[in-house]
Amino acid sequence: MFESSSILIAVIACGLGIALASWRHRRRLRLACADPGSARRLLAEVSKLHDRFQDERDSRSEEQVLARRIAEERATRFERMFTSFDDPILVLDRHGEVVEANPAALAVAKLDPQSCVVDAVHPRPLSMLISNQVAAKEIHALSRNVVDGGPEGLRRSVFELAEEGSVPSTRAFEAVIRALDANGRTLVILHETTREREMARLKSEFVAKASHELRTPLSSIRASLEMLSDGELQNLEQRTEFLGIAMEETDRLAKLVNDMLDISCIEAGVARPRVSCVDLGTIANEVVDGLRAAAERKSVDLRIHAESGLVVDGDPEMLAAVIGNLVGNGLKYVPEGERVTVTVDAEDLTRSVVVTVTDTGLGIPPEDIDRLFEKFYRIKRYERIARGTGLGLNLCRNIVEQVHQGRIGVDSRLGEGARFWFSVPASHPASMAA
Ligand code: ADP
Repeated sequence: MFESSSILIAVIACGLGIALASWRHRRRLRLACADPGSARRLLAEVSKLHDRFQDERDSRSEEQVLARRIAEERATRFERMFTSFDDPILVLDRHGEVVEANPAALAVAKLDPQSCVVDAVHPRPLSMLISNQVAAKEIHALSRNVVDGGPEGLRRSVFELAEEGSVPSTRAFEAVIRALDANGRTLVILHETTREREMARLKSEFVAKASHELRTPLSSIRASLEMLSDGELQNLEQRTEFLGIAMEETDRLAKLVNDMLDISCIEAGVARPRVSCVDLGTIANEVVDGLRAAAERKSVDLRIHAESGLVVDGDPEMLAAVIGNLVGNGLKYVPEGERVTVTVDAEDLTRSVVVTVTDTGLGIPPEDIDRLFEKFYRIKRYERIARGTGLGLNLCRNIVEQVHQGRIGVDSRLGEGARFWFSVPASHPASMAA
């Protein structure tokens, strides 16, 4: 009752208001008709008002058009950024379903972007995009967690994805989960850490192997010094023998440390090669001359066929070290009475100079051949034949490939000797072809 009477009062008040306004309007018009001057003024006023109104309307619609255009451009820019990111990115809705996935995320899930649409109309379960079901569940739970934790929430999760193929492997990822908006949506960025993990593994493997290699000569030096200092060695001959061992092991230690330093300098890109025009034939002859005595001691027939005038731009010391290593290995690993032959030739096809060290020794077992140039790699069954560190060939590869942009390799069959070779671009390739 009270309600209906107040509505009635409001209606009456409204009616009275309209009636009053129209009476005023009619009165002004009547006055204007009675006085032509006042009519003109009124018309001018009305037209001014009309113009102002029109201007305001125009500028407002211009602003709206501009704002719409800016919004569209921003949306396009974000879309482009989203699709061009190398890191897989997912947007989850508040139910934990995927409503956006960039091409990188579809690629990780091995989904075809042409046929698999992921958007708010076609949300997909997270398990479809992350094949590791345990990881998918955890990311789902963490994303709920982030939403409950407020807008600043952030969670991380690490997981692996199995990769099928001829050699099955795994890819490692770190998922960073952030709250996206007030509707409970979250952003999941997957950062691949496979390479970082592999680098960390290689680094710790290197440290472990290096420490092991350093420990052997160190304990030998210590044992020799202990014998000498204990005064247990009465005669001079014994003392000389143990001093000799200590000296030999010290040299071994120094070589090991130098090789490690050289390799790490080259790998880190801080090696400073002294490059000049180098005649590889001359260098090979010098190296072979220096190793003749060692070859004779082992009754190995050491030969060289080196053309002269085969010039490359390189560091003579480094290139001599490569040849020395390859010839030295030949002498170390071939049985007595075998042959080691060094050749230096021009290779017109690749416009480079090729150095080959061929031996008639034991050859390389097929299972070892691909790993021969790795750091610290030694063939198990030859470890008793000669001592070594397993760094020589790796240093050779670094010098040839990283410093001289050349190539290095080995061909061998078990029991049929080995042929180690390396090639370096010639200094004057034009003259080679002539
Ligand atoms: P090191 O000789 O100090 O062990 P290298 O890196 O020079 O280290 O060589 C790695 C391994 O390759 C050697 O330990 C050896 O097993 C094998 N190897 C190298 N040269 C020959 C060769 N001419 N014949 C047979 N095996 C070789």
